[in-house]
Amino acid sequence: MLPGGVLKVGSFLNQQIDTVFLKEMAKEAGRLFAGRPVTKVLTVEASGIAFATAVALELGVPMVFAKKHPSANVSGEQYYAPVYSFTHKTTYIISVSREYLKREDKVLITDDFLANGNALKGLISIVDQAGAEVVGCCAEIEKGFQGGGDELRGRGYKVESLAIVEKMEDGKIEFRR
Ligand code: 5GP
Repeated sequence: MLPGGVLKVGSFLNQQIDTVFLKEMAKEAGRLFAGRPVTKVLTVEASGIAFATAVALELGVPMVFAKKHPSANVSGEQYYAPVYSFTHKTTYIISVSREYLKREDKVLITDDFLANGNALKGLISIVDQAGAEVVGCCAEIEKGFQGGGDELRGRGYKVESLAIVEKMEDGKIEFRR
């Protein structure tokens, strides 16, 4: 645990990646969304990419990631959304090329963490701009006490997190059951 309610998972999920565990997490995500047609998995760079790729591989569909910074490699029209970053305390304009999201797409949005829900809300806005459908959202870890997941569930989205941390206090972590 780091100050400010940040959970450090660099040893297995954010910087060093436990690939065997990642495969198991992707399988579980596939099980949670079984029976729902998904044509694309969407996330935001950089820390969302590993999980999104593993889930997309499990489902046999492409993975698309939103960029956080303007890039010289990108051409053509983009969808844009502002996202306030919980960890960096700054607002990014995320973007996805219009080429990669179409009206007929059914999109599963994934991320490493779900905290206040700003990253997912930005990605939902991008799917909406494309006129595509949000099938649901899946995070590796949700910090339930920050409320973003429950807010999105309240709006009718299917939000599944592989672990929900309810409380982080005095060096102890409590999970939602
Ligand atoms: P939200 O937008 O839901 O507030 O926060 C989600 C984003 O912030 C994720 O993309 C993730 O990269 C980052 N994040 C939020 N909380 C944590 C945390 O406790 N630990 C780490 N490593 N990243 C976090």
